[in-house]
Amino acid sequence: MFSGRDLRSDFPVLHQQVNGKPLVYLDNAATAQKPRPVIDALIHFYERDNSNVHRGLHALSMRATQAYEGARTRVARFVNAADPAEIIFTRGTTESINLVARGLGGRLQAGDVILTTEMEHHSNLVPWQQLARATGATLRYVPVLGNDAEGGLDLAALDTLLTPQVKVFAFTHISNTLGTINPAAHLCARARAVGAVTVIDAAQSIGHGPFDVRDLGADFVAFSGHKMCGPTGIGVLYGRRSLLDALAPDETGGGMVVSVDYAGARWKPSPERFEAGTPNVADAIALGAACDYLDQVGRDAIARHDQALGKLAFEKLSALPGIRVLGPRGERSGLVSFAFADVHAHDVVTFADEDGIALRGGHHCNQPLMRKLGLASTTRASFYLYNTEEEIDQLVTSLRRILKFFGAGM
Ligand SMILES: *Cc1c(COP(=O)(O)O)cnc(C)c1O
Repeated sequence: MFSGRDLRSDFPVLHQQVNGKPLVYLDNAATAQKPRPVIDALIHFYERDNSNVHRGLHALSMRATQAYEGARTRVARFVNAADPAEIIFTRGTTESINLVARGLGGRLQAGDVILTTEMEHHSNLVPWQQLARATGATLRYVPVLGNDAEGGLDLAALDTLLTPQVKVFAFTHISNTLGTINPAAHLCARARAVGAVTVIDAAQSIGHGPFDVRDLGADFVAFSGHKMCGPTGIGVLYGRRSLLDALAPDETGGGMVVSVDYAGARWKPSPERFEAGTPNVADAIALGAACDYLDQVGRDAIARHDQALGKLAFEKLSALPGIRVLGPRGERSGLVSFAFADVHAHDVVTFADEDGIALRGGHHCNQPLMRKLGLASTTRASFYLYNTEEEIDQLVTSLRRILKFFGAGM
């Protein structure tokens, strides 16, 4: 086990003052900070190896190609994929889900069902709505439970929802608003039993613990580099090889064709088929460095650390007056979303910023869920490997100051 404090020296951005106070960065569910080895990987590439990949025969191009394909192999190992060709580099979770949704389009028709859940991020919701609209398929939602089971999925409802008409089941592994950890392996097994393809939104889970696509039995998995200590602008779509080979390419152009004549073109197999044009070489390489970093720290230990902070924050915040802390009481991921009866989330975020604390307030790209919960917005504190228990105490102190200022709930 490590302590968050020990790792902080690896993250240059953390060593600064904000509004005269040491930065307390608690907005990791939106994007994580980058450790020195990831920053160095970017600098090294641009200073030494920068070149276009794949078609080059000169030294730099061969080095760049080797590093880029090495990153693909590294990411494959990170998620225990059977084959590096199952790793497609994208811009991030959103692009990955769009790629698979559009690629599956030709296989859906009226009468088919796309199943998703009530807790999805807009990125794992709107693409499916668009696909339903385009194909005549119907959308169904697994409900989110309230009260004692708050924040969990209604698994009993799967008996009626998960029928043989369901062709796709897309769900988030960890909710970015509730902190719920969904039983992904169970959901994949249930989907497989009716022949539905699974798409897991792993944006909030991939960097926060062990992740094994084969253990989970997942067909497709989408995630972003920037939430796992990697750069922005790079993400991954994992797909089971047999499914990728049957998936239509989304973008077409250079690099993804075997041959072209004036009549048409033939596609390469995965991954090239899905990576038209010049790829994001530098950021893919740096994502490989992020995989190295997280594995070196230890992903079991990261999971324990982040979940312990999430639980502690849940307990400490629940004791504040007039607060509603969302999501499960028991096991939860390293984030807490909360709402005060009398203070708007944007005021909370602005006041916390005066204390050097970075939070996020709003609907967190979960508008339908917010409406269901009867809230316009929440404030979210989300933790990562460099956060500490002291920072949770600082958060609580700041929240008490805010409540006092507004004369709320005291
Ligand atoms: C952040 C996030 C996304 C979108 O990720 P991008 O990097 O913005 O594409 C999707 N789903 C969840 C659960 C997220 O937290």
